[in-house]
Amino acid sequence: MILKFTFEYQSTSLVLENILLRELKSTPLTGKLEKYGDFVSLYVKGGEEELQDFADNLSLNMPYSLFLKDTKVEAVDIMPEEDYILPNYPKRELPFCPKCEKKAFEDYDPFVKCVACGYSFKSSTLKYKNFAKIITKDNERIFKNFAKVLKNGAIAKIKTFNGYKSISLMNQKNFEKIKDDFDLLCVDLGSVGKICSIGKSEILALGSFEKPILELFVNHNFLNIFPFIKNLSKVRVRLSNDLMLDIICKEVRALGSYYIILSDCDEQKQYDIEIDFDSKIFKNKSLEAIVLDDGQSVITKGDLGLVPKVNDGFKDISLKAFSNNFVAINDNAKIITYKRGKELPPKLDTFTLGEGDLSYEAAHGAFYAVLSEHSLLDKTIAGVYFSKINNDRIMINSPKFGLVDYIIFDFDFPKTLSKLLKIMKNENETSSRLVENFITKFPDFYKDELKFSKMGNIYKLWGVIAIMLGMQNDGDVKKGAIKLIKYAASFKGKKGPRIDYKLKKDKNKPKLDNLKAIKTAMSFKLAGIDFPTLSFGVMESFAEFASNILDDISRDYEMDGVCFNGSLFESANLINKFYTITKKNYKVYLHKEFTLDDMNLGYGIINAACKK
Ligand SMILES: [Zn+2]
Repeated sequence: MILKFTFEYQSTSLVLENILLRELKSTPLTGKLEKYGDFVSLYVKGGEEELQDFADNLSLNMPYSLFLKDTKVEAVDIMPEEDYILPNYPKRELPFCPKCEKKAFEDYDPFVKCVACGYSFKSSTLKYKNFAKIITKDNERIFKNFAKVLKNGAIAKIKTFNGYKSISLMNQKNFEKIKDDFDLLCVDLGSVGKICSIGKSEILALGSFEKPILELFVNHNFLNIFPFIKNLSKVRVRLSNDLMLDIICKEVRALGSYYIILSDCDEQKQYDIEIDFDSKIFKNKSLEAIVLDDGQSVITKGDLGLVPKVNDGFKDISLKAFSNNFVAINDNAKIITYKRGKELPPKLDTFTLGEGDLSYEAAHGAFYAVLSEHSLLDKTIAGVYFSKINNDRIMINSPKFGLVDYIIFDFDFPKTLSKLLKIMKNENETSSRLVENFITKFPDFYKDELKFSKMGNIYKLWGVIAIMLGMQNDGDVKKGAIKLIKYAASFKGKKGPRIDYKLKKDKNKPKLDNLKAIKTAMSFKLAGIDFPTLSFGVMESFAEFASNILDDISRDYEMDGVCFNGSLFESANLINKFYTITKKNYKVYLHKEFTLDDMNLGYGIINAACKK
């Protein structure tokens, strides 16, 4: 009998393939691997009972992955003739697989070497500071002691495989020292369910191999357990994504505690206790994800395991492409994108644009990235890019006419609050009355002259709205936008007020009437709508507006689909709303393996460059 296990797997990390081969090798059964596009199949030949055992073991040792979209098992008649040979990609820096975890737990050894997942650490001695007892080469006692000291209330410093972290149990004293910027590290999935509203898809995502951070609504039990945490509607939740934290979670759990505050380490600070080691580490940022309404997960931020890092010189550079902070290189048919700056070797960082080099707009790089990942360059696709850092665009790419910017959002604002108010007042009588009423009702909001920081995109328009509504009391539009997005995220309802986003013609090009959006927001504030509801309306209405533009495009062009990305979509409200509306009318393509506004820019650029 031959069983064919098929996985739709949208990752090039080879983790799935390696785990399948490892599991096959651990049995006397014969089998072959096959790969077509995103579909990986393992054919295994054996008796019915042996195959059942194999399937059981596979499900135990194979972690769920955010990149795993579908699985299927079927009985087939023949094996493929050829065996798929795994390409020789650079090894990714990734979290641990279930087998690694088991081994680390058994030996209290976080320095595990594994052929399948990203783990491969040179054995190292744990070094500890400020422990009461001297413990020599006994990891079990070191970890157990560390957990005990945490249990007694200590704030500790620990080296993880992704850098140094500050770690302490969640209690009032520790929370008051940390306040805002922390992740809640839960010792297991069950503990998450006790304090957060969490659905099946969120559970799968949190526990997946990639171990992303999710922002979840807290439930009423959260306030019972942590009564000292006030006004917190959402919390950044995660499980351990490296074996140092994983062993500590296990020990903390054994002592009857379940919630750990994890935050960045303050190098200047003296910690109660510390654990360190010499072995080289990854220094990656944990992944952050959003689970969409239909259960699909989108990776929004972070770099743990997403892009191979090659730091061994840059011989045979055949093509270079640039965009903002990225250098993309086609190195012997391998596409590698580099972030310029701290991760780069000095040689690359000194690159300047020379003959044959190509420079692309960030938005175009982002668009080409999705098109390339899904092989869509020969289709007519609309691309939507909304970013916190770059200009926003809605674009179309077609084999007939190439890439066209349909609309660019790069509006200018008056530089000061008084100028903005003056323009609004002079627009017409209604606007003038609105401004007067607003100033009468909220005299404090505009009493000081504010200078707006630099403008350009929708993110900054939201920042101005936040300032005009009194959420932010200086002219910092970025801080304002952060506040508005935070308010929207705390909104638990289904519908916000309708903010007017309208296009107007400016030199024959469509332009967003940004003052109209600001004015409608102000009128809802006058009507007494609270900040969370109003902020949600600002984002929801924008998603509807953007989707209407897509409908306009589809009237002029026969569209095969829509893709979208950019860091503005890191907001769960915006991405969920836009995704849900767009999916109703179009085939939607999202990144397979990239975050929304990072390495994708370089990847897209080099793919586009290769086609020239
Ligand atoms: Zn492993």
